[in-house]
Amino acid sequence: MLKGGLYIMDAASIKQEYQDAFDVAPQSVFFSPGRINLIGEHTDYNGGHVFPCAITLGTYGAASPRTDTTVRLYSGNLPKDGVLTFDVNDLSFNKGFGWGNYPKGMLYELAKKGAKFDHGFDLYVHGNLPDGSGLSSSASLELLVGVIAKKLYNLEVEQMDLVYAGQQVENDYIGLNSGIMDQFAIGMGKKDQAMFLDVNTMKYEYYPVDLGDNVVLIMNSNKSHDLASSKYNERRSQCEEALRRIQQGVNVKTLGDLTKEQFDQATYLINDATLIRRARHAVFENQRTIDAKQALDDHDLKTFGHLVSASHISLQYDYEVSVPELDTLVDTAWAQDGVLGARIIGGGFGGCAIAIVSRDQVDHVKEVVGDTYLKRFGYAADFYVAEIADGTHEVTA
Ligand code: ADP
Ligand code: MG
Repeated sequence: MLKGGLYIMDAASIKQEYQDAFDVAPQSVFFSPGRINLIGEHTDYNGGHVFPCAITLGTYGAASPRTDTTVRLYSGNLPKDGVLTFDVNDLSFNKGFGWGNYPKGMLYELAKKGAKFDHGFDLYVHGNLPDGSGLSSSASLELLVGVIAKKLYNLEVEQMDLVYAGQQVENDYIGLNSGIMDQFAIGMGKKDQAMFLDVNTMKYEYYPVDLGDNVVLIMNSNKSHDLASSKYNERRSQCEEALRRIQQGVNVKTLGDLTKEQFDQATYLINDATLIRRARHAVFENQRTIDAKQALDDHDLKTFGHLVSASHISLQYDYEVSVPELDTLVDTAWAQDGVLGARIIGGGFGGCAIAIVSRDQVDHVKEVVGDTYLKRFGYAADFYVAEIADGTHEVTA
């Protein structure tokens, strides 16, 4: 949650910030990561594979229980909003409540699963994920509140229950029809591991991220994806319509069930240029994700990089979720020596892209891409090398 650059956040500083805001020390401190996705974009709600990792950029939270039923929230990222309060006996959505709807929504979803909240709490959050940038600060906040609620109320829930509750917050409470990837990656992340998840079966495996001499460079366009949610929901319903049409002639449950060949033969059933392009992205991106994991198994980083770049082309032309800012970051990165591949990550329409870059070329890539971007758009892009982190957890300060 910071535009333009990063600052250091750690457990000790969030503890101090809580104390400054609420005049007492917090009972417990927690960290919830953001996430990147190596490949497999917009496949999670289409029954395909994703390949994300949790990252060390994320959201810290400090919390203590209260004796009354009030919840007080403060975000170090949004000091203008001041302290937000609600009562645990009224967890209804309220548009004017802004960011407070994410924590409130998490309690609402947990209450639906049977959690009882007989008292409130004070919560101070402060993150270093750039806001609305496709690194999933919203899921980071949801899981943070989920893990805090589990601790403060002794809830008997598994981490996967919190993952599903977080998705319900986005889908039913906020109104974004997103898939399970973000909450899964953030809740279940493991240091130095990516997760290869089949969303059709929810089977997953941890996969050590070994990119040889290469790193994942996050390139933040600093163009907020504010308007993305209506487009996101539109893409989702277009894919659902394409699937409905395919199901008139082919027995499949999701687009992720189709091979490229089966899809090609079914396009006559869709018979609409836009819907074909949307569904083609979902089917081909799923296959690319499977192939990308195979390429890593084979230590074939060149092929892996090509698949990452092919993902961008598909997101740009078939799924149409890119914008000139993201294309500029990606195209300029591609042109540099030592870049294996690059693509948008997250929903699109703004936010971040990633590039797989040879470690010794990182500074050069940042400089060239940064200069080109600044000249073309009049404001700067930001760059961070991703480090792969553990999922949401309590930390000791
Ligand atoms: P993304 O998840 O890609 O970062 P979203 O638009 O889905 O973008 O979520 C961003 C929203 O999540 C913010 O506008 C804010 O409401 C909420 N949020 C995330 N992190 C924080 C934080 N540290 N403090 C307050 N609100 C936050
Ligand atoms: Mg989000």
